[in-house]
Amino acid sequence: MKIVLTGANRGLGIHLARTALERGHTVLAGVRTVVEASPINLLKKQFPDKVYTYFLDVTNEESIAKAAELATTDVGSIDGIINNAGVLTERGKTIEELDFNEVQVTMDVNVLGPMRVIKHFLPLLHKENNQTIINISSEAGSIHNAYGGDFPYGISKAALNMFTVQLSRYVKNKNIAVYAVHPGWIKTDMGGDNATGYPEESANGILDILEGKIDTNSELGFIDFKGKEMKI
Ligand code: NDP
Repeated sequence: MKIVLTGANRGLGIHLARTALERGHTVLAGVRTVVEASPINLLKKQFPDKVYTYFLDVTNEESIAKAAELATTDVGSIDGIINNAGVLTERGKTIEELDFNEVQVTMDVNVLGPMRVIKHFLPLLHKENNQTIINISSEAGSIHNAYGGDFPYGISKAALNMFTVQLSRYVKNKNIAVYAVHPGWIKTDMGGDNATGYPEESANGILDILEGKIDTNSELGFIDFKGKEMKI
């Protein structure tokens, strides 16, 4: 499979890239910085014909359009998109303390980012059959389980879940599966050292979902990395 992946240079993203490559897939990696020693560059050395890197900032539509143009030239079509890039700003702040510039950053990256990526990469996906889009969401976006904190992050992931349902309805006649996937609380810069899960395990589950190996059976497509339905 040829897979577009955002935020591919660290955290869950670099584990998704490595797992996909180890499974024989091609990774079209969206990154914000590529220096010689970037983790994605090290993977490129290991899998030279299977990694394409593009400058892709999900808040910058021009960079996404350019990446899609380059990807069209490089590979012609794609089979999957993983919208992984995300931020958690204003962690632990109360509603009275919120800085709305940071709230806007969260919405820009976590909601508008995946929408921009889909806008420009969907045409490449339409060229194949039986493809999958995965928006990396969070249990924090579950209205059912909402807690009274991390306001911007929670509403951004709830909105991403809505976008996931809208998109799945939009492409329903095209054999494209669309999921919002909670990766678990995992040890990354965002998740921190106290997290109980490992990004390697989540990456494996997410790739299983992408490859259609897990029968998810979820009406609204909000699932965890093992395919278990989550409550919207
Ligand atoms: P990290 O903070 O470790 O990594 C965030 C990633 O997002 C980096 O690759 C970063 O790129 C990228 N990114 C941030 N802003 C932008 C942008 N404007 N354009 C492109 N890329 C950007 O987070 P995780 O790896 O833990 O998170 C991955 C996903 O999983 C996120 O969507 C997150 O919300 C979700 N998630 C994580 C949980 C956890 O416990 N860790 C729990 C639930 C959900 P760069 O290297 O350039 O900064």
